[in-house]
Amino acid sequence: MNKHVPQRTCVICRTKKDKNDFLRLVKIDGKFIFDKEKNKQARGFYICKEKECLLRVSKHKKINISSEEMYKMAKELEKINTEERYIKILNVLSKSDSLCFGMEMTFENQKKLEMLIIAKDVSQKNKEKLIKLCADKNIKYIEVATKEILGKFFGKESINVIGIMDEKVANGLKTL
Ligand SMILES: [Zn+2]
Repeated sequence: MNKHVPQRTCVICRTKKDKNDFLRLVKIDGKFIFDKEKNKQARGFYICKEKECLLRVSKHKKINISSEEMYKMAKELEKINTEERYIKILNVLSKSDSLCFGMEMTFENQKKLEMLIIAKDVSQKNKEKLIKLCADKNIKYIEVATKEILGKFFGKESINVIGIMDEKVANGLKTL
C-alpha cells in the first residue's frame, strides 16, 4: 500500500522529495532552529539529508543558524549515514548463509549467533526476548531500520530480527 507522503523542496539544491527524506528547519523570532520531529508550528524549510546541502546551509547568508543547531543536524546525518551503511551491507549479505532471520530461525540458531540486528519497531515483547537472548549469549545487538525494511532483504513483508552467524561479519558490522 502506498501512503501519500507530501513532497517538499530542498532550500539549497531545489530537489523535490518526500517530506521524510529531509531535515526540517523552522524560523522562530528570526532564528533558524532544527525541528527534529518536524512538528513545530512555524514556517518550515527543508534540507536534504546530505553533507553537501548541510554545509551550504551553514554558509547561507539568509539562513542564520547557530553552530549548536548545526551540530544537532550533523549528528542526525551521522545517525542516518550509519543506518544506511548497515542497510547496504545487510542487503549485500542477505543471500549469504552467515545470516538467519525472523524470531524462529534466530532462536533455532542461537548457538551460532555472533550478533543481532533488531528492527526499531519490533514489539516490546519480542524486543525483551531478543535482548535477553543477547544477554544470555553475551553478544551485541543493534537496532536498525524497520521490520518492513529488514523484511525486504529476504523477500518477506516484515521481519523482526536478523541474526549474524559469522564472527568476521559481526566484527565488520560493529566497526561501522
Ligand atoms: Zn538539497
